[in-house]
Amino acid sequence: MSKAIVIGSGFGGLALALRLQSAGIDTIILERRDKPGGRAYVYQDAGFTFDAGPTVITDPTALEELFALSGRRMADYVTLLPVSPFYRLCWEDGYSFDYVNDQEELDRQIGAKSPDDVAGYRRFLDYSRAVLDEGYTKLGHVPFPDFRSMVRVAPQLIRLESYRSVYNMVSRFIRDPHLRQAFSFHSLLVGGNPFETSSIYALIHALERQWGVFFPQGGTGALVAGMLRLFTELGGQVRLNAGVDEILVEQGRVAGVRLESGERVDSQLVASNADVMHTYDRLLRADATGRRRAASLRRKRFSMSLFVIYFGLRGVRPDVRHHTVLFGPRYRELLQDIFHGKELAEDFSLYLHAPTVTDPSLAPPGHSAWYVLAPVPHLGNAAIDWEVEGPRYRDRILDYLERQIIPGLRRDLVTARIFTPCDFRDELNAHLGSAFSLEPVLWQSAYFRTHNKERDIPGLYFVGAGTHPGAGIPGVVGSAKATAGLILQDRLQRSAA
Ligand SMILES: Cc1cc2nc3c(=O)[nH]c(=O)nc-3n(C[C@H](O)[C@H](O)[C@H](O)COP(=O)(O)OP(=O)(O)OC[C@H]3O[C@@H](n4cnc5c(N)ncnc54)[C@H](O)[C@@H]3O)c2cc1C
Repeated sequence: MSKAIVIGSGFGGLALALRLQSAGIDTIILERRDKPGGRAYVYQDAGFTFDAGPTVITDPTALEELFALSGRRMADYVTLLPVSPFYRLCWEDGYSFDYVNDQEELDRQIGAKSPDDVAGYRRFLDYSRAVLDEGYTKLGHVPFPDFRSMVRVAPQLIRLESYRSVYNMVSRFIRDPHLRQAFSFHSLLVGGNPFETSSIYALIHALERQWGVFFPQGGTGALVAGMLRLFTELGGQVRLNAGVDEILVEQGRVAGVRLESGERVDSQLVASNADVMHTYDRLLRADATGRRRAASLRRKRFSMSLFVIYFGLRGVRPDVRHHTVLFGPRYRELLQDIFHGKELAEDFSLYLHAPTVTDPSLAPPGHSAWYVLAPVPHLGNAAIDWEVEGPRYRDRILDYLERQIIPGLRRDLVTARIFTPCDFRDELNAHLGSAFSLEPVLWQSAYFRTHNKERDIPGLYFVGAGTHPGAGIPGVVGSAKATAGLILQDRLQRSAA
């Protein structure tokens, strides 16, 4: 067996490592942190289990495929529980909308709010399904190695009017301002401003409707653990606390990596799941291609960051659903502040995660686990001193939650920890503390994203949110399929030569 190195154990890194190991390539994952998962890290505080990042699991078929590669069943490693409603959407004026996967119930809620929009929503869903088919099913796992590959899909992109924004497209079908928000906020889940990101990201709506929304029993960490268990059963190796300091390029091709400890690990095949800027700018600092690519990446736009509070409460709140979006008083203007503003806005919109609604085992008996996140500017846009602002912002958000949705929160608070844009930068090596890597705008998508294979350094590949197709679990799992395809194709060509 020959050896491959995967730098980083995010969902993209894990999925690629599973694909390589399943194909008979002896693979080692080198992870800088003390636990695997990347953005899907897990905190255990005072008996509570907090998933740090992804909580909305969509397209289980993409995950099942990773297990099927070696003849296994995902169900033997982790159980995915269906979640309904997918989200409860709440506004400050008291309106709320339960986004469910039941057409009649959706029609009823839309009709009660805005009768004309019932037919409009159906047309939007048709549009969303058409983009899902083109943008995800056909192209979500296919690499875009050269400009020709981009030109080939141009007719579809034009036909689907991908030059419009998500919000603009939703507004063509739906009139009601609340419902326009309800069906356009999804691009934020992959780091895109609905007013600027391409309407191809409207596909997320159809993706959720097609397969549903799930939550792993035991939390997202249990899905990471299941993937890792399969990987090690197949003979793969994982080393934690093994930060890579440099990717070694010798005689023009990859020769291995040097760890922060100074240890050298040799391999002619290295795939980086670490942040794309970190990889080029830091890990390839001694290489001319690395420096050139870093300079070009520095000119690109990176997605917003997030401020997250993980907290545990005494008692349960049966009225709160598993996923709640709390829209603040402003939508377009707040998004403008988050993506382009120089400071933290006074108001916020929040996503509230209440996993113990689906799986009470994530908190001690009679308690409940939560996290709340607010999208905030990345460190390149707003020079906020998070050491000072973090605790203040936490208090403002917790007070808001207490007023709006969790009465008695302060009284029942057992534990709370925060994660700021500086933590994204320092813990995850994320450029500018971005939560989702390169912003998903049309001119940074597909061919215009970091390529899954580095053309000028043979043996070097990329996987994860900064590559095609982009952030989100389905995205990075798709990127792993694209990258594995390239690796296996290159090996075939080499052995034929
Ligand atoms: C708070 C939050 C909530 C989210 N919610 C959802 C959701 O509900 N559903 C969804 O689908 N997506 C969600 N996302 C997006 C999704 O989590 C990410 O897009 C995806 O997990 C990123 O995976 P990745 O493969 O790019 O790797 P990452 O998760 O970014 O992992 C990269 C890994 O590389 C490691 N690394 C970095 N540098 C080095 C180095 N030098 N040496 C060794 N290792 C290194 C890091 O420690 C890390 O473990 C969310 C993201 C966040 C932040």
